[in-house]
Amino acid sequence: MTERFPGATHLECTATGTRYESERLQGLSDVGKPLFARYDLEALRGRFTPATPGDRAPDMWRYAEVLPVRDPACRVRLGEGFTPLLDAPRLAGRIGVGRVWVKDEGQNPTGSFKDRGLGMAVSRAKELGASAIALPSAGNAGSAASAYGAAAGLPVHVVVPKDTPRPILEEIRALGADLQLLDGLITDCGRVVRRGVEEKGWFDLSTLKEPYRVEGKKTMGYELFEQLGGRLPDVILYPTGGGTGLIGMWKAFDEMERLGWIGPERPRMVTVQAAGCAPMVRAFEAGADHADMWEGAATYASGLRVPGAVGDFLILRALRESRGTAVAIPDHEMEEWVHRMGADTGIFGAPEGGAVAAAAARLREGGFLSDDDEIVLFNTGSGLKYVGMTPVD
Ligand SMILES: *Cc1c(COP(=O)(O)O)cnc(C)c1O
Repeated sequence: MTERFPGATHLECTATGTRYESERLQGLSDVGKPLFARYDLEALRGRFTPATPGDRAPDMWRYAEVLPVRDPACRVRLGEGFTPLLDAPRLAGRIGVGRVWVKDEGQNPTGSFKDRGLGMAVSRAKELGASAIALPSAGNAGSAASAYGAAAGLPVHVVVPKDTPRPILEEIRALGADLQLLDGLITDCGRVVRRGVEEKGWFDLSTLKEPYRVEGKKTMGYELFEQLGGRLPDVILYPTGGGTGLIGMWKAFDEMERLGWIGPERPRMVTVQAAGCAPMVRAFEAGADHADMWEGAATYASGLRVPGAVGDFLILRALRESRGTAVAIPDHEMEEWVHRMGADTGIFGAPEGGAVAAAAARLREGGFLSDDDEIVLFNTGSGLKYVGMTPVD
């Protein structure tokens, strides 16, 4: 018999702490906030150690004890996660910091880190008996949901803005999903999905509107620790749309402390957004706990074209608790840094990856970063997915 894993003990509302049942399909909490999966970390302490994943397959499932899927047969696998953490000395020299690692998420199955979140959410939806899944997407989440839905044998409905990059649209179609194009933003696409949820019983996989995409993304935090040989970097720069990855890593660090893997120290977390859509940067600078909707969002970094995020308060809290910051980068500067990063490292990054490299250079100039800081830049996708897209400013 194959080993089953304990999974979550329950879900918890991130705003009120109210407990919810984990063994059935759940969306937002009763107050409309994201739910977090909670584990019996006390029981895992000393049994799930940094050495435990050592001889397991090189994918995100190596951290199975702190993941929600109980039955390994329900894992929908395409090779997601455990992407390389690449040492980039020439890029470090150019930016003027002690060390730069690029976490190259472009090497995931559909070319972006959305595979982690959707791989986990689709696996869990399958385990809990969903019959059809749906989501609004700025692009890459649609590819990932289509791929994992196809692999799981579940029908997938994707609604995207009509100016989503063409390679992504062709990919979604090739993966057999039902694709709807809309003249609007991801928030408008969300309304169409909600109608399908109400009328046709689709299960909604929107960012943070179900509890498990963030569980897939949190594996990036465990991986950084494992790939750095049991420590964390000084600073993590993350291109933030809905913020699942940043929120997920912050959750992973909290779990790692409860597991006894680390102490209270944390990397400084940096949110990077597009100058044409920067609701989190604006809220961070204003000292606000929540972010207002950004009007007229425009950027060619489609993953950053997210005018409002249901997890805004969680992003802002992680930035403040970590003594981090938030930076907005214009599109043309992202493009310049895609080229610099490419020439310095051999990685053809997404505009979102260019954005974090640009942000690191700005933060070095402004003194937030010093010449001995060791930093991780998240290149969240492959540049190949954006072929034909050009900066909007
Ligand atoms: C979705 C996406 C982002 C933003 O990710 P969030 O977790 O929603 O903040 C960044 N980069 C790329 C390439 C994306 O597809």
